[in-house]
Amino acid sequence: MNSLKLIAINIAIPLFIYIVFALIAFYSAKLPSFLFSIASYLFYALSIIILWVSWHFNRNKFIFIIAPLILIYAGFEYLSAQKATQLFHYSSIIYPIHLLIFLVLKERGLFSIWGILKILFVILEVAAVLLLLYYPNELAQNMLNFKIFTISFYPLKDVAVAVSLFVFFVMSALVLFNRYLIYNGTFLIILLAYSVGLYSLKTPYFVDMTFLAIDMIIFILLIRETYRLAFYDELTSMPGRRALVEDMAKLGRKYSLAMIDIDHFKKFNDTYGHDTGDEVLKMVASKLSAVGGGGKAYRYGGEEFTILFSSKEMDECFGHVDILRQNIATSAFVVRNKKKSKTIYVNISAGLVQNSSKDKNPFAVMKRADNSLYKAKEAGRNKVVKA
Ligand code: GH3
Ligand code: MG
Ligand code: MG
Repeated sequence: MNSLKLIAINIAIPLFIYIVFALIAFYSAKLPSFLFSIASYLFYALSIIILWVSWHFNRNKFIFIIAPLILIYAGFEYLSAQKATQLFHYSSIIYPIHLLIFLVLKERGLFSIWGILKILFVILEVAAVLLLLYYPNELAQNMLNFKIFTISFYPLKDVAVAVSLFVFFVMSALVLFNRYLIYNGTFLIILLAYSVGLYSLKTPYFVDMTFLAIDMIIFILLIRETYRLAFYDELTSMPGRRALVEDMAKLGRKYSLAMIDIDHFKKFNDTYGHDTGDEVLKMVASKLSAVGGGGKAYRYGGEEFTILFSSKEMDECFGHVDILRQNIATSAFVVRNKKKSKTIYVNISAGLVQNSSKDKNPFAVMKRADNSLYKAKEAGRNKVVKA
């Protein structure tokens, strides 16, 4: 289960954006009307930017979320009142399900088999809605008017509310238990925004602000994603070397640094295979990330890691690094083969330094940490050596 703190962090950003736009709609009478006259242009412009950036960064998920939203918005704007009402009802049922489907489907190339199936699926959705709009169908109308609740959620139909509630519960479960918190949390808020937005149809500009808010939420998610791509390591999800270099430029007058290297890792790979090696790297990374004493762990590269302790003396840090060493050395790692499973252990060596006035720059400090690491290796490994 995900920690409540992590969930709160991931939900706070999209929720905040949504609340801002909802407030703008609520106070629309007090705001300059010019703002609202350009709302639809803003929506189309931002949507196109999102489509372009998503395409560029291979984040097709967002294309599949935004493209239907543009169609729905344009439909509201340009269809006759009667057809727009019908579109309102159909989209209030289909779009929440659409969100859920595209949340759980894995990111794949747009022109792979899966990508093409997704495109076909969207075309099918659009065709179905167009068919219902232009060839009204009694069965669909009856289903639309099916009563489920004793109270009314006008202008939403009961079916739309039931579907939204169902999707809401599934997404909440994903937020609680699935590891892709950043996506699950964002999609949960998008669903909320969409359903509440349609429900508040009668509040002037609420629908426009809702659609703009969804665009903004996805746009911010895209920015966070590209940030993560640049600064976080793919395999271990911990900050990578670029993040380390950035943080080293911001260090204060006093700091300590540990260089860490997994012992005999080449042999480990040769014995158990590269994939098992990757699993061990993830395990070691997660232990190192839990470092105490205000330290921050980075994957320096390969099987090498760095821990930065800003404004800490080396002697204060030694215990924190040595606990990590002990913790990793005593953590059993189970390798499962076709036939049997085997318990193995890995250990790490570390070199620890504190900066001094003689160091020209943080990289000189790093070099000294590397020398200490080398000494730890020479002294038999599974050790922390202070410079
Ligand atoms: P030492 O105790 O002296 O550090 O020995 P070592 O074998 O760990 O040292 P060396 O630096 O020669 O080997 C590092 C090995 O780490 C080589 C490579 O196979 C492995 N390695 C580096 N990056 C990865 C990775 O991303 N995944 C896996 N599975 N192995 C990696
Ligand atoms: Mg190495
Ligand atoms: Mg090594």
